[in-house]
Amino acid sequence: MAHLAIVGSHSVNGVAALHTELLKTKVLKDFYELFPERFNNKTNGITPRRWLRQCNPGLSALISRNIGDGWLKNLNRLSRLVPFAEQEDFRAAWREIKAENKGRLAGYIEKSNGFRVRTDSIFDCQIKRFHEYKRQLLNVLHIITMYNRIKQNPKATFVPRTVIFAGKAAPGYAMAKLIIKLVNSVATVINNDSDIADRIKVVFLANYSVSLAELIIPAADLSEQISTAGTEASGTSNMKFALNGALTIGTLDGANIEIMNEVGRENIFIFGLTTREVEAIKESGYNPMDFYHGCSELRAAIDMIAGGFFSPSEPSLFKPIVNSLLHGDNYMLLADFPLFLKCQEQVSLEYLDKEEWSRKSILNVANMGKFSSDRTIDEYARDIWDIKPIQVSL
Ligand SMILES: *Cc1c(COP(=O)(O)O)cnc(C)c1O
Repeated sequence: MAHLAIVGSHSVNGVAALHTELLKTKVLKDFYELFPERFNNKTNGITPRRWLRQCNPGLSALISRNIGDGWLKNLNRLSRLVPFAEQEDFRAAWREIKAENKGRLAGYIEKSNGFRVRTDSIFDCQIKRFHEYKRQLLNVLHIITMYNRIKQNPKATFVPRTVIFAGKAAPGYAMAKLIIKLVNSVATVINNDSDIADRIKVVFLANYSVSLAELIIPAADLSEQISTAGTEASGTSNMKFALNGALTIGTLDGANIEIMNEVGRENIFIFGLTTREVEAIKESGYNPMDFYHGCSELRAAIDMIAGGFFSPSEPSLFKPIVNSLLHGDNYMLLADFPLFLKCQEQVSLEYLDKEEWSRKSILNVANMGKFSSDRTIDEYARDIWDIKPIQVSL
């Protein structure tokens, strides 16, 4: 279908810079060589009216009070926030709004899932379709590792976390559904373990939708964008989160790369293999077992899933997950796990410094101008559709 579409089209575009490069050099290499002039990039964007003004009225009001409301129609205006990152009173006001949004989400969680979460914990969010390439499982392995660390060393200091998942699986995608089941099973064990004493809560919010995203995103401290490098065409929830002041933990994949370039390498948590490294390891013969044996905490987490720790009434329930990780691991979770763990430790450490975290949060929002869908649509109009905007008088 894609091949026919290319033959019949005058323009073919990827939706982030990396995606367009992969189309030209790998996925559609032959077509690029035939029709190089047809290929171009249009990095995705999001609308600031829904994904800031509507979903986060508190933050919108604070921003407009200080830099005006020109950002609603020209998102690059947000760069006027840069100097405010250095003002202590502005950072305090910024934190107060995040706290309100977290309280609002905590209320929803209590209503829908029946338990309380600590609003002083890191709200660590991964909300997107369930798919192996998006690696919700990598997030689960991190949660189990945090759990094991507290169990082994209950008195050590631990920065509390509320790990929030939301997302659907395609009806025929059995593995994705089993991963949802695992998230809920891990949540049941950890949330009810009194040794954890509310330091970790795992939340799966059912019926993910745009409306639910509008509630979760303004409350997020941390945005999980952890797909295997080379697999996520762009991502747009990465943009929504950063526009609402969450810091990103992510791989060099899709639009994460362009977000890093805009917000600055020091204001984002980047980890993991690059697209080239993923390819090189695959070529030389990837053996996930080497990583399983090379990292004792990873081995412990996988062994618990395999041994039925999270499914005592049906110990072999998650065998298909364990088998796919140990024999194949197409999305290289095991290779990236040690790097992810280290990066998450850095996140927890930095969260303790409230002022510095707030500074980074403000700088993320201030540098999100590029990711307005207004910019994307202008580029489609100019380069592909060959149409000009007209003035509409209201
Ligand atoms: C933005 C959005 C997505 C896309 O999320 P990604 O993390 O970029 O895959 C999916 N579903 C809903 C409801 C969204 O709002």
